Amino acid sequence: MLKQLWLSYFNWYLKFSGLSRKTKASSLFYFRNKLFVSIFILTVVLGFFAYLASAIVAISLNKWLVVFIDTAGMLVLFFIFLNKKMGLTTKKRLFSINFFALSFALILELGFNSNGTIMLSMLCVFVTLYSGRKAGINTVLITATFYGLVLLISYFEWIIFNFNRNTPIEVIFIVFTNNIMFNFLMVFSVSFLIDQLNRALIKETNLQEKLIKKHKNVVKAKGEAERSNKLKTAFLANMSHEIRTPMYGILGCAELLKDYNIDSEFNEYVKVIQDNGNKLLDVISDIVNYSKLESGLLTANLAPFNIMHSVEDIVKEFTPIAKEKGVYLNLNNDIPKRNNIVVSDVEKFTTILKHLIANALKYTNKDGSILVNCVLDYESSIVKFSVEDTGIGISKDKLSDIFAPFYRIDHSNDDAIHGAGIGLAISKAYSNLLEGEIGVESIVDYGSVFWFTISTNLQSTEKAKALYLTK
Ligand code: ADP
Repeated sequence: MLKQLWLSYFNWYLKFSGLSRKTKASSLFYFRNKLFVSIFILTVVLGFFAYLASAIVAISLNKWLVVFIDTAGMLVLFFIFLNKKMGLTTKKRLFSINFFALSFALILELGFNSNGTIMLSMLCVFVTLYSGRKAGINTVLITATFYGLVLLISYFEWIIFNFNRNTPIEVIFIVFTNNIMFNFLMVFSVSFLIDQLNRALIKETNLQEKLIKKHKNVVKAKGEAERSNKLKTAFLANMSHEIRTPMYGILGCAELLKDYNIDSEFNEYVKVIQDNGNKLLDVISDIVNYSKLESGLLTANLAPFNIMHSVEDIVKEFTPIAKEKGVYLNLNNDIPKRNNIVVSDVEKFTTILKHLIANALKYTNKDGSILVNCVLDYESSIVKFSVEDTGIGISKDKLSDIFAPFYRIDHSNDDAIHGAGIGLAISKAYSNLLEGEIGVESIVDYGSVFWFTISTNLQSTEKAKALYLTK
């Protein structure tokens, strides 16, 4: 409550003295002026109570000169305080002069161990705070001049002050010199503190400005990125359509040519067109999908599906290719015949499994074997797949690299193994998208086991299954 009262009073006086309209809020000058206003208000309020106490005591002791000095000081203070037209700089000057006068008068009247010396020291600090080091030093110099004059007058005994009567001049000299040194020390300490504060303030303001600028740049960059992402999406969709459509045309025609069955050489050429066309289609799909992944455009389309049927269909699709290569392809399906509806993204899951089987086939020589395993763990809602091959294997130091995009192990001695090197990178990204993991264990010349998991929301699987069965 006291704080609120103070703040409202303080703000009122800031407005009253026109400070907020005239000076730049972040400057040191503004800071000093605000400091002056705080000191000034406090001096008026506290000074008034101090004045009342000292006036009562002075009256009771019959010290009318002290009453006069105090009253004059207080009146001047009120006059400066309530004068709306007076600028803050003039107020500062008059405030300081008033303090000087009051302190000098009190020292002369009551001696150097009166409040006067304390007030002079305080004034040095105040002036340094609200007007800077130079003004602070000047205050000390004025104090020193006053002390010098008093000493001179006392020495030649032109006037006999009260304190001359019971204190030797040497003691007065030491007290005065100490006071001056002490005041100098305070001025330097306070001005150092203010300088440091000001530096910190400037730094903070600069930092804030930089941050605001950076934030604006980030907002701008974000807008640009969003725009370019939209362009990318449109480009990818177009690319995918523009390349795939003519490819389907070529492959369709190749299929029609097959019916002509002119001779075996002719059929072989048609098969070459079909095989290479399909490979090209796969590479294009991989690149487009990878670009979509990179731009964060791919999301999982969750829907219920029969996982057992999907796995069987995929293995069936690869059986003729395996047969042709002379590789044994087997499925070990541990998914129960009932309860085999799961909720996941069938397209992405199919892509991963197909990639792994295609790779196993690619890197396994004739008479080798491939075993596809799948297990559905109801407790953890996870389906785990593995593709084991007896192929060429991968050396230990390359195992962590093969999931990086465009990474390929150099099989320079085998021209038949082609690939863009992004199949595993896509598989990894897809398994992550399906809240699963992917990994590999392998021994060179012995074979590899690639495994991956997908998370299926089995709680909703029951509902999904009911829905799926009613379709
Ligand atoms: P690609 O097969 O098109 O080169 P991938 O990303 O599918 O790209 O695989 C990256 C690399 O990992 C391959 O170049 C290959 O050296 C290695 N690799 C993948 N699967 C197997 C496997 N079953 N056996 C041995 N090496 C493999």
